[in-house]
Amino acid sequence: MKRYLLIIFLSVFCGGVLSAQSTGCAESWKKAENREPLTEAECVAVADSIHKRYVTLDSHNDAALYLNHPERLARKVRNNAAGYTVVSGQVSFEKMKEGGLDAGFFAIYLGQKALDQKSLDSVYTLCSTELDLFKKYVGDHAEEAEIAYCPSDLAKIKAKGKSIVVLAIENGYPIGKELSRLDEFYNRGVRYLTLSHNSANCICDASMDKEPERYGGLSDFGYKVIKRMNRLGMIIDVSHASSSTLADVLECSKAPVVATHSGAWEMKNHKRNLTDDEMRAIAAKGGVIQCATGRFFLSHLPKKDVTVKHLVDHIDHMKKIVGPDHIGLGTDFDGGGGVVGLEDCSKMKAITVEMLKRGYTPEELGKFWGGNFLRVWEEIINVSKKM
Ligand SMILES: [Zn+2]
Repeated sequence: MKRYLLIIFLSVFCGGVLSAQSTGCAESWKKAENREPLTEAECVAVADSIHKRYVTLDSHNDAALYLNHPERLARKVRNNAAGYTVVSGQVSFEKMKEGGLDAGFFAIYLGQKALDQKSLDSVYTLCSTELDLFKKYVGDHAEEAEIAYCPSDLAKIKAKGKSIVVLAIENGYPIGKELSRLDEFYNRGVRYLTLSHNSANCICDASMDKEPERYGGLSDFGYKVIKRMNRLGMIIDVSHASSSTLADVLECSKAPVVATHSGAWEMKNHKRNLTDDEMRAIAAKGGVIQCATGRFFLSHLPKKDVTVKHLVDHIDHMKKIVGPDHIGLGTDFDGGGGVVGLEDCSKMKAITVEMLKRGYTPEELGKFWGGNFLRVWEEIINVSKKM
């Protein structure tokens, strides 16, 4: 009996290392730990072990609406075939399995429109309907996937061999001017809110707005939103927010904040990207920057020439600025994400392979792939308990 328990213990807690040994790559794993150069084959073997051992997560995709409405995806795919450059259908539970990606934060995305009461009510209804539809979708695929509601759920669901879904909303637009909607969406399972999309809503100014700033950062209502999210233990996502909004949020939030899908301004001057100082400020507050994979954020090169290497250049830069404890990945798949070599989430290990080549250790990769984000999420919950 004891021996049986020991075997279970070893296979559960040492899965990665054991599988590394069984595929003959224990030595390669050691080399990776010591940042020694690895061959291509060694990188692939160690990457496999890393994805087995650690919970891996993608902090942002826009796949939920396509999964809710397969006809829209079919239309998009037909358009792709007709020569359009947008690639869609990048996320499925099957592809996640294939790519060794355990968890995805699936955002219900709401495009920004007018701020009159009628529009606010209608976007709230839309968000609510899409959220229900997506929860039903996951429920209908209960053999393959399960929703996680707190950080510790992720390892439990991974152990069952299922894909992990975390619910999110991209754009605070449907919150309108009603704080109670934050409580409502949180109670219905939503764990992060991206404060804005490309232009101002009732909460804050956004980085891509063509109009002059409305509030110079957070609105009066926006300050209340941050306070309420802190109290709820809801993750504040500052991707898409303007620099002034980010500064206000960092000043008033009691909890760390995250950027779920942003690039580095220093590497490409794109309004959506974060400056070195902004990244330092997010990290100083205990937060994390999740590198986006959309080629617009990464490089000026044509689409066909932007590869995983350019993506990892951004990750390297982020690591240089904030260190290995404050970085991660948010693909933005089905929302513009993806480069050559990382066309969909079946290819996630290509990132790990490239990072191993550049001397990242398995431990650093474990943090990058989820350890950092989950630590920040835990901290956000801890702060809420003290409020
Ligand atoms: Zn986005």
